[in-house]
Amino acid sequence: MPQDIDILVSEVGPRDGLQSIKRTMPTEAKLKWIKALAASGLREIEVGSFVSSRLLPQMADCAALVKEANKIEGLTVLALVPNLKGAENAIAAGTRKLTMPISASRAHSLNNIGKTPEEAIEEVRRVCAFRDALPVEQRPDVEVGISTAFGCTFEGKVSEDWVIEMAGLLSKAGADSIGLSDTTGYANPAQIKRMFARLRGEIGAEKMAGAHLHNTRGQGLANVVAALEVDVTTFDSSLGGLGGCPYAPGATGNIVTEDLVFMLEAMGLRTGIDVDALIIAREVLLCGLPNEAIYGNVPEVGLPKGFTYAGNKSAT
Ligand code: ZN
Repeated sequence: MPQDIDILVSEVGPRDGLQSIKRTMPTEAKLKWIKALAASGLREIEVGSFVSSRLLPQMADCAALVKEANKIEGLTVLALVPNLKGAENAIAAGTRKLTMPISASRAHSLNNIGKTPEEAIEEVRRVCAFRDALPVEQRPDVEVGISTAFGCTFEGKVSEDWVIEMAGLLSKAGADSIGLSDTTGYANPAQIKRMFARLRGEIGAEKMAGAHLHNTRGQGLANVVAALEVDVTTFDSSLGGLGGCPYAPGATGNIVTEDLVFMLEAMGLRTGIDVDALIIAREVLLCGLPNEAIYGNVPEVGLPKGFTYAGNKSAT
């Protein structure tokens, strides 16, 4: 964690948001958006996914995005990789941090990637072995997000013991850090608190990645507060909650970056991010995706009168 912030907000809109909508945002427009996001003070952005462009044509330009985004000073550029092939492509493009989603739900895993969770853990081991064979300066960080960690649209309840056991296996497989993802928007604050406390107990604080939360059922920010109570310090979010939820019109996808930053700063936790600059980034996003539905309460009504950021900086 950089010294001047308390909480790392990791923007996932260009990946999680854009892959959830049908339209493809042109590469130039994506780059303008990523630059506007970085200009707001965001330190980490997941710019895309190294998946087959047949499966997700929206993500076909990921290598070009990594190359360009790597030029932005002070920014950690993240990309999703589903398997070893994706990791090889991501590393060849110069990606410094890889994120691999591994599903705790057997049905979700089989349906999504045609592999059992155990086979997916083996794939993480292969990626880490490939990484470890590279010269030190070329080795990226490998982060794993355990998806459907709080429930699954196919299976319903997912065993909490299994999720924690998986985290231990992933740690042994070589993952640098492991986080929990509420892919389906099933989590509640009590569960978040319990599971992150158990995760820390299993893998240790130094290997703990953050919380990836969706706001599908309106629990997003409540879940953030619960995670803060057990010292989670990294949160994924998406500008404008881009992506939505195909099953619940009006419900956002990821938690909304603008609302998250406002809440954290108002609670006295420094993010290094400027809300007004995020609102400019919304306009840049909509230039590239005209009329796309985006969300957020703070952008609708503005910051409260006299609002000051956690570091005592006044809002402009
Ligand atoms: Zn997600």
